[in-house]
Amino acid sequence: MALGTPVGSFQWMKLQNKSNILNTIRLQGPVSRAEIASLTGLTPPTVTNIVAELLEAGLVIESELGESTGGRKPIMLRLNAEGFYVLGVYAGVSKVKAVSAGLDGTIRQRAVLPLPKEPSAENFLSLVKETLRQVIEKTEAKREKYLGIGVGMHGLVDTERGLSIFAPNLKLRNIPLKAELEAEFNLTVEVENDVRALALGESWFGQGQGLANFICINVATGLGAGIVLDHKLYEGSTFTAGEIGHTTIDIDGPQCTCGNHGCLEAMAAGPAIAERARKRIQQGDSSLLKAWTDGHLEGVTAKMVHEAAKEGDELAIGVLADTGRYLGIGIANLLNTLNPSRIILTGGVAQAGDFVLQPLKETVARRALETPARAVSIVTSEMGEDADAVGAFTLVLRRIFTPMGVNEL
Ligand SMILES: [Zn+2]
Repeated sequence: MALGTPVGSFQWMKLQNKSNILNTIRLQGPVSRAEIASLTGLTPPTVTNIVAELLEAGLVIESELGESTGGRKPIMLRLNAEGFYVLGVYAGVSKVKAVSAGLDGTIRQRAVLPLPKEPSAENFLSLVKETLRQVIEKTEAKREKYLGIGVGMHGLVDTERGLSIFAPNLKLRNIPLKAELEAEFNLTVEVENDVRALALGESWFGQGQGLANFICINVATGLGAGIVLDHKLYEGSTFTAGEIGHTTIDIDGPQCTCGNHGCLEAMAAGPAIAERARKRIQQGDSSLLKAWTDGHLEGVTAKMVHEAAKEGDELAIGVLADTGRYLGIGIANLLNTLNPSRIILTGGVAQAGDFVLQPLKETVARRALETPARAVSIVTSEMGEDADAVGAFTLVLRRIFTPMGVNEL
């Protein structure tokens, strides 16, 4: 399939002035050429020349006339958000989701396909491609209107090579996502760890906007964090920064998928919640969950524990409170280490609301140092169920608008 256009290529956008002006129009539009010059510090002729290129490419359009400051009314410029598309793919544990969106981040179309348990590498790649083909077909846009594909992939990701190094829940290694998708779709592809992509999405469209230092913590089947430091997504020296799920909370705790004991993930992620509820019922504690599963306790899920808590089930409330305390210890450690101004909780467990949040906040207040604890706000994400795919296509927006890291990430 031959897609693509030089407009979205890194070569085209790499001139810092061009991306700087384009980003100013995105953030401030409608805006006049004179205002762009004063906001960016560039000379009016430079602005005029670059704006002409952006108009020619169709990334920017002239809109209404602005207010006059004495002379002629200036022509205002705004982003042609509907003129181009970016594609975002979220490759999770049980499904692949792809969305198309305009340059302002508004989602246009979406396609979702289920993933089989432990697929082969070929099977996995062909499902990712098929999901993308479906969303492209639904979007009904000309091929040259797509500016790139961003992929959020669980597990360890080499962002330079666009390689999924290890996807533990699919048991796959060394999947060349970037190479495969670029060959198939003829578009620039960026691949990032799914939780880091979530953090990027929060920084552009969610509760991380304008923040220099924040941490997005995803608590679902797994547990990980995307760390933004000084307006940049922090990847670490070998792309594993943010693996807070595998920091030890209890040296005698249950064994984790990584082999260690008492990891935060083994104590607080979804499967751990279900397992603790099961254990307590097996030990003789009473709970609605016993009747709900007809005594087949292997059917207990974290979601059911939340449902039972809402019905006033004391065992379920206790299990979620413990989860909040474990998360609170993990977060207190992060606050003391990195001093972020916000913690954004995402994923299923974050939806358990005050059953988890209340004990979490109490634990943070007790265990973190006073200064970083006072500086932080702990919130739950408001980006909804497509946050994962939004994070993925934000990788493309970042390349187009802020390749030099200006203004935002
Ligand atoms: Zn672990």
